[in-house]
Amino acid sequence: PGQAELVIVYHRLPYEEHRVNGQLQRRRPRSPNGIIPTLLSFFADGRKGSWVAWAEHEEGEKFDTHTAVDPEHYKRLTAARIPLTKEEVDIFYKRFSKEAFWPTLHTFWERAIFNEDDWQVYLKVNRDFALRTAQEAAEGATVWLHDYNLWMVPAYLRELRPDLKIAFFHHTYFPSADVFNVVPWRRQIVGSLLQCDYIGFHIPRQVENFVDVARGVFPLQTLERQNCAPRFVTYACAVGLETMTTALDTGMRTVRLGAHPVGLDIDRVRTSLAKNEVQEQMQRLRKELGSVRLILAVERLDYTKGVLEKLVAYEKLLETNPDLLGKVTLATICVPAAKEMTIYDELQAQIEQAVGRINGRFAKIGWTPVQFFFRSLPFEEVVGWYAMADVMWITPLRDGLNLVAKEFVATQGLIDGSGVLVLSEFAGAAAELKGALLTNPHDTADLAQTCYLALNMHKQEARTRLRELFDIVSYNDIRRWGDEFLAALESPQPESRLSG
Ligand code: UDP
Repeated sequence: PGQAELVIVYHRLPYEEHRVNGQLQRRRPRSPNGIIPTLLSFFADGRKGSWVAWAEHEEGEKFDTHTAVDPEHYKRLTAARIPLTKEEVDIFYKRFSKEAFWPTLHTFWERAIFNEDDWQVYLKVNRDFALRTAQEAAEGATVWLHDYNLWMVPAYLRELRPDLKIAFFHHTYFPSADVFNVVPWRRQIVGSLLQCDYIGFHIPRQVENFVDVARGVFPLQTLERQNCAPRFVTYACAVGLETMTTALDTGMRTVRLGAHPVGLDIDRVRTSLAKNEVQEQMQRLRKELGSVRLILAVERLDYTKGVLEKLVAYEKLLETNPDLLGKVTLATICVPAAKEMTIYDELQAQIEQAVGRINGRFAKIGWTPVQFFFRSLPFEEVVGWYAMADVMWITPLRDGLNLVAKEFVATQGLIDGSGVLVLSEFAGAAAELKGALLTNPHDTADLAQTCYLALNMHKQEARTRLRELFDIVSYNDIRRWGDEFLAALESPQPESRLSG
């Protein structure tokens, strides 16, 4: 065994590495959601820890297996780097995970490509992670694994180190059994996850979906169920999910489950708003918009985000409500996919076509109906846009959580704004965000109508809703997410036995 009392196993190092003239140089990581700083903060008290992540390695090059992370703030934290070749990174991280698992997890299973050779690379990399973690962890240590890139780590790790407390947090959506069961390796994946002591998802629906999948593979007994209220109360009523499974007996061990929607670092939003550049940007935007009302969308270029569906609905909105012509504009900040991800090319072409069509059809001198920005903006600048939006229109067809929704709420709350949040009911965040207008992105008429309602909402009502949303987002911040996850992991095993 090693010496780390807490081992974080993540797909990224807690700092960014760049090759400059053949030399590796470091930068602070870009982590607008604050997950990396939050995970780091667990080591601020001097706890002995290790952060296991991969690093690209060229053959023949010197490789540091251990590096200090930030000795000034985290005295006893070391990064344990796993050398992966460029080919391994491409397959494990960029290709296989995005082609096989990403679509399936988001219920687009017909887009998934399952390749056995790639699965073998995935297994090899997961084994590397497990071996390394086993070397780092002290006797009885806690290991916190993150996300679907590392699904197979628990299986290898449990075999190597039965003494460890293993926890897993799932950052994406987790679909129902009907969808997940198409994965050729589902038995191995579920078997691996059931080696954990604790598994966290964002919301109760994802927990229950996992339980259904697991039950289809292994005979499991339910040990405990808990009420979803109060945190998920509106959602619990809306989808009829009033309780969720919180402990399963596999026959070998008790696996506990929990719903922990990731929160925000509100201070980061506050600091962004206080910046001169952001204030100037806001003034500029205000001037440019004049009396035109801003409908804002911020999303990655991905078929799960409903970018195209929203444009089609916007066209319908303008078509059926001529009173809006010249009075509103839709600004979309759409972060392009990495160049090598050609699966997004067709979608991009369709989006460009739709934007051209809408602008060609409705534009007037001095008014552009859609402003589409295909680029990634620095977080501060996105905050400036949030501050200016009258309506935030978030329409994923499926999304694990959606941080943009929370960032918008935080920004508007901090400036005492009255922007209206329109949120897809298929985003995990909808389960928590009581006060948002929910919409079905598969229904063009509903999308258009809900946006229209948002544009016409009375200011007082908008403000009341926003306050309610802001209370939720500021209370359940990223710090609370991390603390609650660790506390749940450490809490005692359930004793009550229910029938399975
Ligand atoms: N974001 C950004 N610059 C941009 C657009 C988005 O920094 O130009 C950030 C945004 O602030 C948010 C994240 O990207 O923190 C997107 O997270 P979300 O959970 O909404 O979606 P994901 O892309 O993780 O599916």
